[in-house]
Amino acid sequence: MSSKDKFIFSDESANLYLGDSVDLGYSTTESFPIYQTSSYTFPDLKTSLEARKIKGYVYGRTNHPNYTSLSELVAHMEKGEAAWVVSSGMFAIFISLITLVKAGDHIVCSANLYGETHEILKNLLTQYGLETTFVDFNDKTAVERAIQPNTKLFYGEVIANPLTILMDVAMIADIAHKADCKLIIDNTFSSPYVIKPLTLGADLVINSLTKYINGHFDVIGGAIAASEEIIDRVRFLSKIFGGCLAPFACWLALRGARTFDLRLEKQNKNAIKLAKALEQNPLVAKVLHPSLASHPQHELAKRIFRKDAYGAMLSFNLEDDLEQADKFIKSLKMVGFASTLGGFRTTVAHPYSSSHKELSAEEKAKTGIHNGTIRVSVGMENAADIIRDISDAIKASK
Ligand SMILES: *Cc1c(COP(=O)(O)O)cnc(C)c1O
Repeated sequence: MSSKDKFIFSDESANLYLGDSVDLGYSTTESFPIYQTSSYTFPDLKTSLEARKIKGYVYGRTNHPNYTSLSELVAHMEKGEAAWVVSSGMFAIFISLITLVKAGDHIVCSANLYGETHEILKNLLTQYGLETTFVDFNDKTAVERAIQPNTKLFYGEVIANPLTILMDVAMIADIAHKADCKLIIDNTFSSPYVIKPLTLGADLVINSLTKYINGHFDVIGGAIAASEEIIDRVRFLSKIFGGCLAPFACWLALRGARTFDLRLEKQNKNAIKLAKALEQNPLVAKVLHPSLASHPQHELAKRIFRKDAYGAMLSFNLEDDLEQADKFIKSLKMVGFASTLGGFRTTVAHPYSSSHKELSAEEKAKTGIHNGTIRVSVGMENAADIIRDISDAIKASK
């Protein structure tokens, strides 16, 4: 079966991946088996050389069947020609960067990036001869002005943590391509349910599988989707550097991804309801979710996102008071307190003491994040239960 034939039922849904049964002669496995083997044996030299040539299964670090099935699914979800999965979202970011740039090159980066990504771009890769400039991706003139003769790459996130700052992917792709550069998008916060950046001009899209694609809080993994040509290079580098995802982790992520559309549909709907309820709550100072007319980029969200989906991440402000935030967290009965996101269950995070801990007081003040800022990853529970638990905890925190 060619990889295209495995998706014949729908060109949108991730639930209907057909490429995972194994013919046992007299019957076929309904689920895709876990190929828990580090190596493969061959009957003779010729077959082994053939296997290497067609990127067949030779050694577990370089390729295995569970890799293939999960990579095909991610390519389908992001509408990429190809995809490759790796050991974590962070490794996906690292390997994507070294695929597209080398020492002496310059990267124009969004000023609003995931904390660890910011660290890589600002303090780590710069030790190996790369230059980076951080700029507000919503300021077109500033982005154009950041381009240098050695600029090769632009790097951004569709929805940035935790204030839900959006970027216009097509606009940045246009600027990048006019300057003969490539654009990398980290789609983790938004997810391929809400937006497919490759269709808007991005050249490479990253997802942390750990978040929405697996969605079950039981796997760490990352994925890269792009053209066949770029993925060939990604594959080569990630094999050499050894960032492989083990068969069982691939199997779990594929199993998780089966319900991706169902989960994300419910989570996106719940987020709209929760945002509305919080906005009407007199004890809440401010709510940021792209579904709200009060969100500064509501119109952009309507233009670039899937109809009626605005992402399942939102944030709101209590008073700038650490004790009140702690009381809020302690008063939650159903919702969990965790720094991760994108699972089936609703979780809240406290960015001021976690993701944004390293920022200076001045930088924090500029972002508007303070002790009372709460980030919510909205889950797929009953919307009324989520709203009640969070509203009750807000009341108890006062
Ligand atoms: C979690 C996350 C990552 C890193 O993914 P891991 O799987 O934890 O390595 C990268 N980018 C964003 C936006 C994330 O939320």
